[in-house]
Amino acid sequence: MKPIVGIDLGTTNSEVAIIREGRPLVIADAAGKQIVPSFVGRSPTGEMLVGELARNQYTVDPERTIKSIKRKMGSDERVNLGEETYTPPEISAFILRRLKSMAEEFLGESVEQAVITVPANFSDKQRQATKDAGEIAGLEVLRIINEPTAAALAYRLDREEDQFLVVYDLGGGTFDVSVIEINSGVVEVRASHGNTELGGDDFDAALVKYIAEDFKQQHGIDLQADRRSLARLTRAAEAAKIQLSDAPFAQIREEFIATQDGKPLHLEMEIERSRFEALVSDMLESTIECVQQALEDASLSADEINKVLLVGGSTRIPRVADILEDVMMAQPHLEVDPDLCVAMGASAQAGIIAGEPIDAVLVDVSPHSLGIEVAEWQMMGPVFDQYNVIIRRNTPVPVSKSEVYTTLSPDQKNVEIKVYQGEEPIASHNTLLGEFLLEGVKQTKRGQPEIIVNFDYDVNGIVHVSGKDKRTGAAQEITVTATPDRLTEEQKADATERVGDVEIVWDAAPTDSHEDAVVLLERASEVDDSLADGEEKTDLRELISALETALGNQDEEAIDELQEELLDLLYDLED
Ligand code: AMP
Repeated sequence: MKPIVGIDLGTTNSEVAIIREGRPLVIADAAGKQIVPSFVGRSPTGEMLVGELARNQYTVDPERTIKSIKRKMGSDERVNLGEETYTPPEISAFILRRLKSMAEEFLGESVEQAVITVPANFSDKQRQATKDAGEIAGLEVLRIINEPTAAALAYRLDREEDQFLVVYDLGGGTFDVSVIEINSGVVEVRASHGNTELGGDDFDAALVKYIAEDFKQQHGIDLQADRRSLARLTRAAEAAKIQLSDAPFAQIREEFIATQDGKPLHLEMEIERSRFEALVSDMLESTIECVQQALEDASLSADEINKVLLVGGSTRIPRVADILEDVMMAQPHLEVDPDLCVAMGASAQAGIIAGEPIDAVLVDVSPHSLGIEVAEWQMMGPVFDQYNVIIRRNTPVPVSKSEVYTTLSPDQKNVEIKVYQGEEPIASHNTLLGEFLLEGVKQTKRGQPEIIVNFDYDVNGIVHVSGKDKRTGAAQEITVTATPDRLTEEQKADATERVGDVEIVWDAAPTDSHEDAVVLLERASEVDDSLADGEEKTDLRELISALETALGNQDEEAIDELQEELLDLLYDLED
């Protein structure tokens, strides 16, 4: 059978996937990379560059490099690349050719058919341009499917009961939210909204601006004025942003980023997660307005939505799930890798077309939330026994996450760290997995020390928990084991119903051995009838009556013994 690949042709990144052993698999290139940046460039020596190389060139030579061609699909605009001009489908075809050859290298055979995804709000013209791009690249496009539909297919929600979903897709350059209806296995977009000019690049830009302003205040030099230092700063900002998704601080260190009076200047700075969140907060809030608009367009309210799926690399920012949970009142799903989810769903659609049985993507997740006990300051003072989650339930593992905490009393020397597993807001209502004392905390005003607590969760459910005072470096750690999955509330209710329906006989029914004894007694009385009076008949009658008494008393031990004796006697008599 000829292979059919699934392709996510994204604004920032693209991926190609196939079905392997019934499951979606995203193909990696020779260097092991699954994500191909959607950049196309011409090197100064005339070579055509696609992906990482083109992206690297973009930062220093944007005239010879094209990014975000997806935004121009369906328009008549032409773009310049070196000396030549190209149409948007032609530029997209370079990306598709790269993906096609990755798949061919992996499979060892030619690939000629594909399913390609597009945003739900793409017009017919934009869809046709995408199909054209496929054909230019030598691919027969069997189907164009909507990106949120692909996400639902990656989770195989088409096989579940009828339901409504919200697919929230925040990538590098665009934001889309769609309300999806699943009805008898058919996945349909009911409403879609978004902002084609909002994504991770804007978060990077906000961070760049903040860092550049700080640097300017210190040294009087604007790093944004020089293309090379801006390029380095942008990369450093993106790396810091990604770190902040898992840690409360990120360090930025760029040596020799500028010169002053002939002397080199270095950039060295620490960014706090809360600072980053403040910088992007308005942008994130604007996505929530789009969610509300999409719900309104679909004539649905938040409580009618069964699941929320997160798609796109920027949804790894923890604040995204938090604000969405507040409006949707349900914890969003991030189990399937948000960068690869759409490509996987496209390959699931390819598999469905080919008639293959397809399973959902297999991911190991933490079955429960993990966190520590904290005290929270409220109006009346500290409230103890509060649960602060560090790793949320259903987070793909392995995973490493840290949070920062502080002291409660002045001159506090030690901090007790209690590790819990569970979902209850009161810490002690969860399962205590372990505890330890961090000694050697800097003695100062309460709320001053910064204690970083890190959870490292491996695929076997082993969790290394460490606490460290950022200032003194004092550290302590323990290893605990997260207990395996317990029954969910739904499973419990289901099991209770099934067990509750079964009638149970409480009185002990006669056991098999008693049946044997009854049969044996019948046989013995037949022998008794045939025996003439004498010693043997007396012995037999005594045994029969003893066994009858033992049966009446349910004296198991005596029943067994007397049965044996009776059997022996009958054996002799019947001989
Ligand atoms: P996509 O277009 O879906 O591939 O998303 C790419 C965007 O996701 C880029 O802006 C990345 O910087 C961003 N991104 C990837 N991983 C993370 C992360 N762990 N935290 C925050 N943003 C991320």
